[in-house]
Amino acid sequence: MTVQRDDVIAWIQAFTAAITENKGYLTQLDSDIGDGDHGTNMDRGFQAVSAKVPELADKDIGAILKTVGMTLVSTVGGASGPLYGTFFLQAGSATTGKLELSLADWVAALQAGVDGVIMRGKASPGDKTMIDALTPALQTLKESASKGSGFAVALRASADACEQGMLATIPLVARKGRASYLGERSAGHQDPGATSSHLLLRAAAQVWANQEG
Ligand code: ADP
Ligand code: MG
Repeated sequence: MTVQRDDVIAWIQAFTAAITENKGYLTQLDSDIGDGDHGTNMDRGFQAVSAKVPELADKDIGAILKTVGMTLVSTVGGASGPLYGTFFLQAGSATTGKLELSLADWVAALQAGVDGVIMRGKASPGDKTMIDALTPALQTLKESASKGSGFAVALRASADACEQGMLATIPLVARKGRASYLGERSAGHQDPGATSSHLLLRAAAQVWANQEG
């Protein structure tokens, strides 16, 4: 299995639909420990991305991902705009000129995206951010690839690890972003950015690996 350009666009569209569907939920999570705008921030950004989809079809995968990143940076205020923007810009740089992705290419893209988020936001694992979902997803993807798993199996394992990482943010005390202002009171709530990151990688597994449900 390889991922083609139109699969990349289908992933972005599936994630956009997941964000729209979960807008209220993400905003509720952010109301508990932040300022209650994560759902609307993400939805605003991906509605702007949606409007650009017609221009994406003839671009290479790197250019598609960079367009997504630039659109997010320019339309989303708040922490998540620059962070997701950087994720897509860096993943796009790692896939410059590519018309399809192998598992190794996707490992490189996810690695570049996660490194970009860490460089930009300076979060470490355990700080209760999207990094707590993305890091185990990347780790598991790499392990699956080095074990010789197929692309589809690796994508599902990566999305499952992302979900576990998202759930593991619940007991954590936030050390980055607005939630850190709450100190100990941030414990007991799931991080909104980790939740949207899980939707992102679950959408990749569902669309690219025909995952059920
Ligand atoms: P804001 O915090 O500006 O209101 P959002 O509500 O859209 O922005 O996004 C909040 C999410 O951003 C958090 O749940 C967290 O996952 C993520 N986040 C915040 N700061 C950082 C950071 N420094 N590094 C990584 N992720 C971060
Ligand atoms: Mg917020």
